[in-house]
Amino acid sequence: MITIALSKGRIFEETVPLLAAAGIHPAEDPESSRKLIVGTNRDDVRLVIVRATDVPTYVQYGAADLGIAGYDVLLEHGGAGLYQPLDLEIAQCRLMVAVREGYDYFGAVKQGARLRVATKYVAAAREHFAQKGVHVDLIKLYGSMELAPLVGLADAIVDLVSTGSTLKANHLVAVEHVLDVSSRLVVNQAALKLKRAKLQPIIDAFAQAGHHRAHAASL
Ligand code: AMP
Repeated sequence: MITIALSKGRIFEETVPLLAAAGIHPAEDPESSRKLIVGTNRDDVRLVIVRATDVPTYVQYGAADLGIAGYDVLLEHGGAGLYQPLDLEIAQCRLMVAVREGYDYFGAVKQGARLRVATKYVAAAREHFAQKGVHVDLIKLYGSMELAPLVGLADAIVDLVSTGSTLKANHLVAVEHVLDVSSRLVVNQAALKLKRAKLQPIIDAFAQAGHHRAHAASL
């Protein structure tokens, strides 16, 4: 049995065509079925539907052989036990520093102010501000980061930006690029050895589906 860990929403939707390229068709739409284990047209392939941040964990411990996870999620996880053969170039967005409209971020940085920064992406944010030599107190949040600068919880946030409409709707502006994010295929290292005959064709089909560039991953 091959188990593939996916999250609902954007990643699932953008993975369906990749699965199709590998001849795998989910039996149900997890969005409507609410099932956590979804069968496919292949008796030997199933999908497990988990939180995006949990995908690397399922694959790390071998509860799933393959998974698809955002680079942001992989950075926070650390990548232990995971082989990352492909950047699938799906669910593309940018991790950005954003502040309230009118807040002088660069002025504050120049003055050496200690900034309070709210984010879900603590590891990536810590690394970014350390490289820039900006002093920050990081506040871990699990969602709705956009609210933090509006109610005085933080001076800035580090969050994913796709179209920019969420920032705009909350009168925030992006002031600094942290990193580009897209989703990657992750493979359990032991499974790759033990189940190579079954996994390799799926990996190859994903790679060919969008002329995806091979990614010699290192975290
Ligand atoms: P947008 O309004 O299009 O800029 O989207 C921003 C919102 O969607 C933020 O709440 C982000 O956290 C979330 N978001 C955008 N792109 C992604 C992605 N690729 N994966 C997960 N969340 C995302």
